[in-house]
Amino acid sequence: MVESSKPVPPDNAIGRLTRMEAISSRGASEASLNAARAKLGQLETALGKIDQPDFGMCRRCDRLIPHGRIMLVPESVLCVQCAEKKANS
Ligand SMILES: [Zn+2]
Repeated sequence: MVESSKPVPPDNAIGRLTRMEAISSRGASEASLNAARAKLGQLETALGKIDQPDFGMCRRCDRLIPHGRIMLVPESVLCVQCAEKKANS
């Protein structure tokens, strides 16, 4: 039977975990805040283009982006096919 390695003393473990959690949760908050800001910028761009004739047209292939996609992702500038191609490339 293999003897398991000695556990880290509880005090140290808790102290380290708490600090790591504080650091990582702060990073996650900043990341999601940045993502929200980027999303807001994209939405504002989409709103600014809503009156233009090419709104809802794919920027890459000029096909109509399905309304369902526009509703789901208002800032999308690519149709589903092109978005998938872009994601895979
Ligand atoms: Zn397209």
